[in-house]
Amino acid sequence: MAFYDSEVEVLIDEARLQARVQELGAQITREYAGRDLTVLGILKGSVYFVTDLTRAIDLPLQVEFMGVSSYQGGTETTGEVRITTDVSKPLAGKDVLVVEDIVDTGLTMQFLLENLRARHPRSIKLATLLEKPARARAKIHIDYKGFVIDDVFVVGYGLDYGEKLRNLPFIGRVKGK
Ligand code: 5GP
Repeated sequence: MAFYDSEVEVLIDEARLQARVQELGAQITREYAGRDLTVLGILKGSVYFVTDLTRAIDLPLQVEFMGVSSYQGGTETTGEVRITTDVSKPLAGKDVLVVEDIVDTGLTMQFLLENLRARHPRSIKLATLLEKPARARAKIHIDYKGFVIDDVFVVGYGLDYGEKLRNLPFIGRVKGK
């Protein structure tokens, strides 16, 4: 018995998750060979994905993190995002791979990608573990995608519910939510 057994049901189990991360790592390895790769994780949700994905990439690379927080207008996200933690090195001239946990409405990513493009990286691509197309409000091009999911609130492998449940080794759903 684990602490979460009574409150969470498994949607994507650990074996499927890890197998997909290995596939994405192999694809990124092929496509970025010989490039100056900077993996840019978005805090805090992508942390588990970033650590597994970068270990599945067989290339020299740098890891950076950015923290963002969305301004809430009522219950809906407004799409206006505040950068709470910025990168430690300039991104100009780098091949930047943004790594996100989930693209939901896409508004956070739209704002962030626009901000990052203004820093003149050599290239910019997006990897997301999950995509929830049912709620899309902005058209975001995703270069590397783990799984497409239905419109359910998910937790685990970095994704939280009130700052908890990030440390589940799988993607789950809170029962009754
Ligand atoms: P977007 O701007 O695409 O609507 O929102 C993106 C952010 O909302 C994600 O980075 C994530 O932090 C949060 N989010 C969206 N859907 C979910 C979900 O199902 N579960 C959790 N835990 N967070 C989510």
